[in-house]
Amino acid sequence: MEYFLTDVQKEIKKLTRDIAVEQVLPVRAKLDKAEEFPWGIIKYLADAGLFGIFIPEEYGGIKAGVMELCLVVEELSRVCSGVALCYAATALGATPIVLYGSDTQKKKYLPDIAAGRKLAAFAITEANAGSDAGGIETTAIKVPGGYKINGTKCFITNGGEAEIYVVIALTDKSKGPRGATAFIIEKGRAGFSFGRKEDKMGIRASATRELVFEDCFVPVENVLAKEGMGFIVTMRTFDFTRPGIAAQALGVAQGALEAALNHAKTRIQFGHPIIALQSVQHMLANMAMDVEAARGLVYGTARTIDSGAKDATLEAAMAKVFASDVAMRVTTDAVQVFGGVGYMRDYPVEKMMRDAKITQIYEGTNQVLRNVIGSELRKRK
Ligand SMILES: Cc1cc2nc3c(=O)[nH]c(=O)nc-3n(C[C@H](O)[C@H](O)[C@H](O)COP(=O)(O)OP(=O)(O)OC[C@H]3O[C@@H](n4cnc5c(N)ncnc54)[C@H](O)[C@@H]3O)c2cc1C
Repeated sequence: MEYFLTDVQKEIKKLTRDIAVEQVLPVRAKLDKAEEFPWGIIKYLADAGLFGIFIPEEYGGIKAGVMELCLVVEELSRVCSGVALCYAATALGATPIVLYGSDTQKKKYLPDIAAGRKLAAFAITEANAGSDAGGIETTAIKVPGGYKINGTKCFITNGGEAEIYVVIALTDKSKGPRGATAFIIEKGRAGFSFGRKEDKMGIRASATRELVFEDCFVPVENVLAKEGMGFIVTMRTFDFTRPGIAAQALGVAQGALEAALNHAKTRIQFGHPIIALQSVQHMLANMAMDVEAARGLVYGTARTIDSGAKDATLEAAMAKVFASDVAMRVTTDAVQVFGGVGYMRDYPVEKMMRDAKITQIYEGTNQVLRNVIGSELRKRK
């Protein structure tokens, strides 16, 4: 399919594919098994300038766009979506600073992120507040010169590895949706530590940890946007980053399709490659249609956002839900095409199936996002 990528986009795609194939492919099984954070690969991505894609030029980046971000995430995920997530989660942590940071905050934090010297993360989820983000209990109490933060965030991607965290905490519970505020909190600040590291089903190269705040003083200049805007910052950020999760799903589905096709052409049963069997062909046909439809929706959404659309909540949610459902179907069928060996760790498709599942869960579960899509459809003329 022709997607009319610009020369720069083609270059970014090729550069990322080369890194994925040359640097990620040889170590992806090891990273997955050891649940090891891919610092070596982060260095290649940083040296290639790929962290600058989501940072404006005046702060050291190239501010390419959501489309370019999607291309990078897709290409990395085609090989290992655990590695891709370490990169994408930094975009998630940086985006609220790009969208809402003051010039001083941008100058302080963004150049290090653009250069890949520091990773970022975003933290809203808590043990009692996942889909129901309004139920967060972490508090930020006003004290002279700033706030004291207390509470625990869970399941935070890049937790412990990132240096820069955007954290949502309650500044005034009685104000409901206006009662939360976004704070930039650096690793190393007194009262900020890391709790449990999760042992995950998939995306095991990425780190998922608790963030623990115990009387952590954060100065007033670290408030992002304004007090009371925490949920607005969160929702607007997700509009920009959900296409990235969709691209992660698209990439893993693409990788699984290619692996299944290759296996079907080379595995001989009953004297023929199994691709000669109509039932296998139909499975592959459905997988190919699913992947291409997801790509069309992801790229279309990214371009809609990059064109300056005021509101892309509907498109971003649709792309994330559709592509992640595709990823789950396609990776499951890829295991089926491989038969028994597909179930074994020696072959890549069982990892892809494990990696795909999370895309239906984070940055809004697909059930919650179907609610969002429904309500957006109801609102729009
Ligand atoms: C590996 C991993 C990485 C993550 N990274 C981050 C991160 O970097 N930062 C961060 O802040 N969070 C992160 N999260 C948290 C993630 O966004 C939440 O897990 C997700 O939003 C779902 O919340 P929950 O786990 O509490 O599930 P719950 O909200 O308890 O949902 C359980 C089930 O109920 C359904 N459900 C709940 N409410 C509704 C509803 N209103 N309508 C329909 N169905 C509903 C859900 O769809 C789901 O099937 C991560 C999670 C994981 C597993």
